Amino acid sequence: MMLTSSCVMNTHKNDLSSQSTRSLLARRRGLVARLGDAERLLVGSLVEQTRRCGKAGCRCAEGEPHGPYVYFAPKTAGRGRLRYVPAALIEVVRRGVQTGTEVEAVVAEISAINAELLARRELT
Ligand SMILES: [Zn+2]
Repeated sequence: MMLTSSCVMNTHKNDLSSQSTRSLLARRRGLVARLGDAERLLVGSLVEQTRRCGKAGCRCAEGEPHGPYVYFAPKTAGRGRLRYVPAALIEVVRRGVQTGTEVEAVVAEISAINAELLARRELT
């Protein structure tokens, strides 16, 4: 297991280390430009849940719950409280979650490039 993991990391490292510093800097600039639409990003996911209101005699008490309702579940542990998403905002939140996923990947790639530049003593 350790060997497999080590191989994967080396493959990724070699991928970056085979590129020229000039090409890494150009790639980094392009990645930063993609962060421009980050204003509405949401890091987490959309989930659907049903609810029981607790009122006596309600249909949900007999096993037919309300919903499903849509919630945003933040990824960060500890602040992972679900936030209700009204129908009018589902598309905005869906796009925000998609942007959040993309930005996370872009940030990870910029960091990998900077780590490679650091190894070359060419991080600026
Ligand atoms: Zn109910």
